[in-house]
Amino acid sequence: MGKALIIGCGGVAGVAIHKCCQNSDVFEDIMIASRTKSKCDAIKAKLDGGKTKISTAKVDADNVEELVALINSYKPDVVLNLALPYQDLTIMDACLATKTHYVDTANYEPLDNAKFEYKWQWDYRERFEKAGITAILGSGFDPGVTGVFSAYALKHHFDEINYIDILDCNGGDHGYPFATNFNPEINIREITANGSYWENGKWIETKPLSIKREYDFKAVGKKDMYLLHHEELESLALNMTGIKRIRFFMTFGQSYITHLNCLENVGMTSIEPIMYEGKKIVPLQFLRAMLPDPASLGPRTIGKTNIGCIYRGKKDGKDKSYYIYNICDHQECYREVESQAISYTTGVPAMIGAMMVLTGQWVKPGVHNIEEMDPDAFMDALNKWGLPWEEDFNPVLVD
Ligand code: NDP
Repeated sequence: MGKALIIGCGGVAGVAIHKCCQNSDVFEDIMIASRTKSKCDAIKAKLDGGKTKISTAKVDADNVEELVALINSYKPDVVLNLALPYQDLTIMDACLATKTHYVDTANYEPLDNAKFEYKWQWDYRERFEKAGITAILGSGFDPGVTGVFSAYALKHHFDEINYIDILDCNGGDHGYPFATNFNPEINIREITANGSYWENGKWIETKPLSIKREYDFKAVGKKDMYLLHHEELESLALNMTGIKRIRFFMTFGQSYITHLNCLENVGMTSIEPIMYEGKKIVPLQFLRAMLPDPASLGPRTIGKTNIGCIYRGKKDGKDKSYYIYNICDHQECYREVESQAISYTTGVPAMIGAMMVLTGQWVKPGVHNIEEMDPDAFMDALNKWGLPWEEDFNPVLVD
């Protein structure tokens, strides 16, 4: 059916590439382009020989000219950005210059300021619309599936949704005292930032990890979870009818929190550069280099993830609550695509988002958050491509 250019070749891209190759009727031809070409070649070597034609290239995604040249030579129908949030705008610029559709999984964040928000990417709305190309923002799990779940809940189960709690539980154990399940730099920037939630039309800011709840997750059990700011809160607050409050909680074990506190106390999580032996280094980037590569956690991680959303609102004048979630098993993911569940739960929706554009189902010029699109075909695809969802019409609520 079409050609996709996948930019980045880390943990998430690895899964998305496997899934594109499984879905070769849609992904007839893919190009994997990243900073380190040897990683692209290694995955090509593993997957070559199937129906999807694979090529590779080296690209610096911070460089718009390089991106434009690559897109012009390969001529993809869609660009799937699976590099880091820092590259979102340069890749969007290249898509504009070449009139190519764009899909990503994380919103833009400037390198020197750990504050991610949609304003930079929303600024492209008019330009994408005029160019007649589509951008789908946030096609991972959270953001991503959480937005699709929300659109689905609103379409099929509610007249208005008043409260959303997004619960992201990782019950996996990789056996290391401290490691992060995806890019450590991005992960730690997110967790050490102030938390916040949306209530009655405004943001309430909280100290990092200061709001804690316990929840009993199906297939995982009881876990402590902490309120974080998360990017989909910003778009869901705008796009969900009747919303009064949205919160996001993520589980962390005590060992993780203890290590993180210690690293933070000694300054290792800072993004302010320091001088070390005559060279400028960013402590968090140095820490990243010390921590296990998330891609190496796959074979050793056991347990399950359970990620989903609890909604409360009204249907036909009556109060209603509804919980929709996916349970994913780390070892099953590893057996299938040699990756743990965190990359898997992001890489599968990334492939589906690109598929929705390639098949024309989500082609709508402009820049859109995922919950703005019709969710039904995406929901079916989740069941088909490895992330089946479950529903609970009488869930335990979070206070
Ligand atoms: P990784 O660090 O494993 O991979 C990032 C890849 O991008 C690497 O291959 C890296 O190259 C490449 N890259 C970085 N900078 C450049 C550049 N300037 N030019 C070209 N390539 C570059 O990250 P993950 O796979 O864990 O995460 C990928 C994305 O997914 C991130 O944006 C992350 O925020 C997002 N994400 C979204 C989630 C969601 O649910 N929505 C959940 C988890 C992650 P190299 O190999 O040389 O380092």
